[in-house]
Amino acid sequence: MAEQEQGGNWQKPSVGRIVHYVSHGTPPRGDGGQAYESQCRAAVVTQVTNPTNLGLAVLNPSGMFFHESVLFDGADQAGGTWHWPERT
Ligand SMILES: [Zn+2]
Repeated sequence: MAEQEQGGNWQKPSVGRIVHYVSHGTPPRGDGGQAYESQCRAAVVTQVTNPTNLGLAVLNPSGMFFHESVLFDGADQAGGTWHWPERT
């Protein structure tokens, strides 16, 4: 479950916290490359439906967009999911 995916450091999300949203990359090209790879974006929590399903205001370098339902994925960090910012 989520606690294990976070190494026991699971934090409960709340409105106003900053998380990472994983942008969708563009579809693979014929040569197997990708014009844009999926990337972490900063996102403000706007709604907590439950601790793993959040509404987010995603901050891209060139604009913002809003999602009402984004699911947690701390293990694979698939496109279109959120996770806590990596510790650096
Ligand atoms: Zn990240």
